Amino acid sequence: MTWIEYKKQLPKSHFSKEDLNLLEAAFLYATKAHERQKRHSGDDYILHPIAVSLKVAEIGLDSQTIAAALLHDTVEDKGAELKEIRKRFGENIAFLVDGVTKVDKLRYHGVERTVESMRKMFLAVAKDVRVVIIKLCDRLHNMETLSSLPYPEKRERIAKETLDIYASVADRLGMGEIKAQLEDLAFRYVYPDEYFWIEEEVKKRLPEREIYLERVMPIIKKELNREGIKALEIHARAKHYYSLWKKLQRYDMDWERIFDLVAVRIIIHDVNDAYGVLGLIHKHWKPLPGRIKDYIALPKPNGYQSLHTTVFCIDGQIVEFQIRTEEMHKEAEFGIAAHWMWEHAGKPKEGASINPKLAWVAQLKEWQSSFRKGKMNSEDFLESLKIDFFKDRIFVLTPKGDVIDLPEGATSIDFAYHIHSEIGDHAVGAKVNGKMSSFDAELHSGDVVEILTKKNQHPSREWLTFVKTSMARNHIRRYVREQTGKILLRKQEPIEIVVEIEDRVGILKDVSSAIASSGISIKDIESHVRGDNAYASIKISFIPHSKDDIHRVRARIKRVKGVQSVKIGRRERTI
Ligand code: MN
Repeated sequence: MTWIEYKKQLPKSHFSKEDLNLLEAAFLYATKAHERQKRHSGDDYILHPIAVSLKVAEIGLDSQTIAAALLHDTVEDKGAELKEIRKRFGENIAFLVDGVTKVDKLRYHGVERTVESMRKMFLAVAKDVRVVIIKLCDRLHNMETLSSLPYPEKRERIAKETLDIYASVADRLGMGEIKAQLEDLAFRYVYPDEYFWIEEEVKKRLPEREIYLERVMPIIKKELNREGIKALEIHARAKHYYSLWKKLQRYDMDWERIFDLVAVRIIIHDVNDAYGVLGLIHKHWKPLPGRIKDYIALPKPNGYQSLHTTVFCIDGQIVEFQIRTEEMHKEAEFGIAAHWMWEHAGKPKEGASINPKLAWVAQLKEWQSSFRKGKMNSEDFLESLKIDFFKDRIFVLTPKGDVIDLPEGATSIDFAYHIHSEIGDHAVGAKVNGKMSSFDAELHSGDVVEILTKKNQHPSREWLTFVKTSMARNHIRRYVREQTGKILLRKQEPIEIVVEIEDRVGILKDVSSAIASSGISIKDIESHVRGDNAYASIKISFIPHSKDDIHRVRARIKRVKGVQSVKIGRRERTI
C-alpha cells in the first residue's frame, strides 16, 4: 500500500498539514521496518499496523496516537528501535509505542493469576488510555485475522484472553462497540458449539423480526414529526451474539423472553427530547411493567447512558426501544475515546451524572469536562489520561514476562526476594530494561527486571536502608543476624579453667562429667602431673555461650571431691 492509498482511507476531517506529514513519516518508517515480514495469513506484515491505525483513526484519536499505532510493532526488543523512534517522532509517540510494547510483554496465566489482577496490570502497564486504545484495536485486528493462525490451542488461548481481559477492559472504559466486537470474535473459538447454535437460531429469527420492524419505524417517525421532535437517527440494531448468549443463560435459554434480539434505537438531540420520545412511545404502546430503565438518571457503572423501554407494539409483539442523545450514543460506542470526536466536532458537554462507584471513570469525565470548559489545556488533559489508578502498587516484569506486583518505591532487591529468597540472598547485580541498575533504584510499572546472582555473594546490611517489602527486609535481617552471631562466636576466645586436684582415683572422670553436665562444648582438656607435688592439675579450654556458663562450670567443678582450686582466665598460663 502506498501513502496516497493509505491517506484516502483515513477519515476525512481535521488533519492539518503537520498531522499529515507526521502520519506520512510514520507510515514510511513502519513500511520500511516491516519490509519482507509476513503474517501467518501470508499477507505483508505492514497490513496489520495499517489496519490498527485506521481503527484508531476511526475512533477519532489524534494524529500522534494514529502514528503510534502505525509504529506499534516496530520495537522488537531492547532500546535501539525505541531510541530511533524518539529521535524521529518525539517523546510522546515514543512513550505510546513503548507502552504498547510493554503490554505485549505481559503473559496471561489464566488460573495462576486472577483475571482481575491481570486487568489491573494491563491498565497499570499501559499507563495511558491512548495506549489501551491502541492495544484494543491491535487485538481487534488480531481477532479478525485469528482464523489464519494454524495452531488451534493458540487460537483458543488468545480468544480466552480476549474475553477475559481485553473485552473487559474495553467495557470498563465504556467502549461498548469494541467490547462487543471483541466478544463476538472470541466467542466462536472459546465456545464453538454455543456460538454456532446461537448463529443458527438468530438466522432463523432475524429476518422475520426485521420485516416486522420495517412496519414499526415509519409509525415512530410520523409520531416524532407530529410532536416536533427531530430524531437524528432511528435504526434497528441486532443484539451481539455473545451478549445474547449471556442473556439467554440468565433466562433459562428461553428465546421467548429475549425482547431485544433486535432493538430500535432512537438518537435525538438533547436529554429533554429523550424523555419526550419515551412519553410518546408509551402513549402509543403499553409498556411492560418493570422494563423501563432510566440509565440517564442512573448511568451504568461504566458510564453508559440511555433510556430503555419494552412495549407491546403492533399486533401485541414485544419490542425494546433505546433512546439516547448523540453524545451518549458516541460514548456508549467509544467510551472515553469519544472525547476526541467531541473535541473535533466542537460539541458542548452536558452535565451528566456519574455513578460514583467507578471513581476513575468519573474522574476521567471530570477531566474531560474541565478540559472542555477550558480549565485545562490540551497538554494537561493528555497528561491526565496517563493512568494513575494504582497509586500504591507497581507491576514489573520478569524477563519471561511474568508479572510481579510490588509496593510503590520497591527496588530490584525487593523484586529479587519476591522471586525467591535464594535469588535475593545471592544477588550481585540488577538489569532494568536491559541496562545495569543500582540496587536502590526505584522500579516502575512495566520495567523488565533481571537479577544476576553469584553463589558466593551475600546480602548486605545496607540493603535494609532502601528495601520496601517486609519479605526482603526479613530475609536480609535474618542473614545479618546469623552473620553477627557467627562473628561473635568467632571472636570469642576460649576460656581456660585450671583445676588443681588431689591425686585420687576417678577424680578426672568426676571433673569431666561435671563439665559435661554444664552443657558447654569443650575444646581441649589436658592433665598435668607436677613432679613431686601431691597435686595434679587439669586444664580445660572451652567457648562459653554466655557468662553464666563460666560460673556454672566453676561451681560444678568445685563441688567435685578432691578439687583444691579452680582458676579461670583467658589464655592464662598458670602452669
Ligand atoms: Mn500488533
